[in-house]
Amino acid sequence: MFSAMIEGGHLICLADGYKADELKRIRKEHVFYCPACRQQLDLKVGDIRLHHFAHKPDSVCPVPHEPESRYHLKGKQLLYEWFKKEGLSPVVEPYLKQIRQRPDLLVDGGERKIAVEFQCANLNNTEYRQRSAGFLSLGIDPFWIIGGNRLKRLSNGFFQLSGFHWQFSKGDVMPPRLVFFCPDQKAFLILEHLIPFLTNKTSASMRFLPLQQTKLYGLISLKSRSPLQFNGWKRNVLSFRTIPRRFLSKESKQIAALFYERFHIPLPLFPSEVFLPVSSGYIFVQPVYVWQGYLYLFFMKRPSFRLQSAVAYTNQLIRSNRLKLRWNKREKAADAVGEYVRLLHEKGFFIKEKDVYFPRWPAPAEQRLEELLKRDARYFSE
Ligand SMILES: [Zn+2]
Repeated sequence: MFSAMIEGGHLICLADGYKADELKRIRKEHVFYCPACRQQLDLKVGDIRLHHFAHKPDSVCPVPHEPESRYHLKGKQLLYEWFKKEGLSPVVEPYLKQIRQRPDLLVDGGERKIAVEFQCANLNNTEYRQRSAGFLSLGIDPFWIIGGNRLKRLSNGFFQLSGFHWQFSKGDVMPPRLVFFCPDQKAFLILEHLIPFLTNKTSASMRFLPLQQTKLYGLISLKSRSPLQFNGWKRNVLSFRTIPRRFLSKESKQIAALFYERFHIPLPLFPSEVFLPVSSGYIFVQPVYVWQGYLYLFFMKRPSFRLQSAVAYTNQLIRSNRLKLRWNKREKAADAVGEYVRLLHEKGFFIKEKDVYFPRWPAPAEQRLEELLKRDARYFSE
């Protein structure tokens, strides 16, 4: 931590920039206390890590705080300076007694205060929700910034995103986006156009915003400006078809069994139509071919259908837990189904008369990979 109390309740904040000599002198003259638990703290004057305070090894502080890595301290320091430059009077690690929480920074956002949490360590969903609710109960808006160390890039414009990441997008900003900060690159990294392929593999566009050229208002309110990329998606479908998988989730096994029973095709040879990148598809937790697979089976079972009945069927899948939503937003699931059906229509898979859709293409027979790849190209080329 950067903040500690000295005699008389005065606070000393290392983010204000002290020289090592100065701190060594102060260390001899004062005793430092944690503002939350009032236990004595050690002042660590370091070369590798930034100067910081630490609890004694055996002390237990009731305020949960992550282990302070160099990365976390450096990020907190840079964000503090940035908010200060923005004229937002940041306070480092203020102890909010009523809720027993200590955000990394508290910023004066004008009408409302903003608690900034720079989250570099793991955080489970219960803790996340409790901490967010705590701030809100005081009329403070939480602003979670994820440590750039938690950003895992895969090839072809894909990212490894888990429940840890998704929780920060909360579902109240649609479409969701994730804000990372990397103190080493001194930049914000914004992920947008999030379209999951597998449970932990999501296609996204990344924007790089250097700290010095970014304003808080722009960071919070910005609209997605990066273009949606499809090339990576096509290559990703190709590797899905050609690289054998050792592990399959329960949901994948279920849909694979249904397709095998119905069409005699294994998972890698699923039709192109169940791999479509649909912009509201993030609402489903399961892989893209699971939710689209169920709908595909629905389409192929009947000579024609209306969009409402596809949406009603999806709701039925959600109720019976075969499909899981990331946030409790049925209307978003309906959007995803609508986008999916319209895209299939656009690509010539359906004929539409008034508001009735007729599948035009026959059920998939056992196909050669080559033919499938041609069909993929038809769907996934820009
Ligand atoms: Zn403490």
